[in-house]
Parts: sequence; structure tokens; C-alpha cells
Amino acid sequence: MAKKTESLDNYLESHYIHRSNWLRAAVLGANDGILSTASLAIGVAAASNMRGPIILATLAGLVAGALSMAAGEYVSVSSQTDVEKADIEREKQELKDMPEIELERLAEIYEKRGLQKQTALIVAKELSKHDALGAHVRDELGINEISRAKPIQAAFASGAAFTVGGILPLFVALFLPLKNIEFSLYGFALFFLIVLGAVAAKTGGSSVKKAIIRITFWGTVAMGLTALVGYLFDVNVGQ
Ligand SMILES: [Zn+2]
Repeated sequence: MAKKTESLDNYLESHYIHRSNWLRAAVLGANDGILSTASLAIGVAAASNMRGPIILATLAGLVAGALSMAAGEYVSVSSQTDVEKADIEREKQELKDMPEIELERLAEIYEKRGLQKQTALIVAKELSKHDALGAHVRDELGINEISRAKPIQAAFASGAAFTVGGILPLFVALFLPLKNIEFSLYGFALFFLIVLGAVAAKTGGSSVKKAIIRITFWGTVAMGLTALVGYLFDVNVGQ
């Protein structure tokens, strides 16, 4: 009975880990969206007293950021896919060149997972008869349907997360009063960053307090420095 609940826990844990990985990636993507778009908007708002340039900069920052995040994710996950494909090709070759050694290797893996030597060999033989490459890819290389790299999905998720984050400062730039808009942008961005930081920490099982302190500090540094740059330039167009 204890063994059964333990494997159920492992099963739930593995699904929870998978879900929390995706959530953490999405939250971090949205964080990037908020922070880089809000910083850009604050920099322009500090330099200009017109709404047009602020909206334009925020929108351009949002589009450029989302596309570069998606492109970066696509490239990095594609190279992971390439590595996986090369590994699978090598595995195919090894199975052709030295099937006995590969069978022993597979049996060893099952033995390490707790099977008796005899049982491990039987399982390895039966799985190899059924689908040798599938068994090696899954149990030796650790590539399975869930962990498999999906460049388009990852790129889309990352670009979408950035966009969701970046839209928040855009709404502030569009609808809030122009007077002291850099402070509204800062306040709202910090609020969204804290909420997201807390969610990410909670799902990842880490300290929410630390996450909030960390995001507040670095968020303030990033937005503060861009505001400083804006004030230094102080364009004040249209007066
Ligand atoms: Zn193998």
C-alpha cells in the first residue's frame, strides 16, 4: 500500500513539476514584458510631455521585445531539438552495430530503477522486441513526449507571455493622466511585477517575501535608471 501511494505521489509530482515549469516560464516572460516595456515608457515619459511619443515607444518596445523573445526561444529550443535528433540518430546506429551491448545497457537502467537482474533483462528483452529505439530513447536518453523540445510552442508561449506583460504599461500610457505619468507607469509596473513574482515563487515553492524584495529592488533600479536617462535628455517636444 505504502509503495502504491509513493508511486502516485511521484506521478503527481512529475505532472506538477511539468506544470510549474511552464507557469514559471510564462511568469518570467511576462515579467520581462512588464519591466522592459515600462522602463522604455518611463524613459520617454521623463524626456517628453506629450502622450504620442510615449505610446509609440511603448508599442514599439512591446512588439520588438515580444518578437525578439520568441525568436530567441525558437533558436535556443531548436538547437535543443537538433541535439535530441542527433542523439536519436546515434542511438539508432548503436542499436544496429551492437544490439547485445545495448540490451545489457537497457537492463542495467531497469536494474538501477529497482528491478531484479533477471526481471530487468526480461523487461529489456520484451521492450526491445516491441520497440527497441522507443525504449532506448525514453529510458536511456530520457527523451519523452512531455520533455521533448517544441520550438514553435516554446517561441509562441514566450512571445505571448512577454506581450501579456508588456500590454499592462501600454494601457497605463494610453489611459492614465499625462501629468506625472512616469510615476503611474512605475507604480503599476511594480504592482504587476510583485503579483507575478509572488505567483512564480509560490508555484516554484520558494520564498514569496524574498521574491517580492528582489523584484521590487531590481524593478526600481531598471525603471529608475531609464527615468534618469530620460530626464537627462529632457526633449520636451511641442512647447
Ligand atoms: Zn542505447
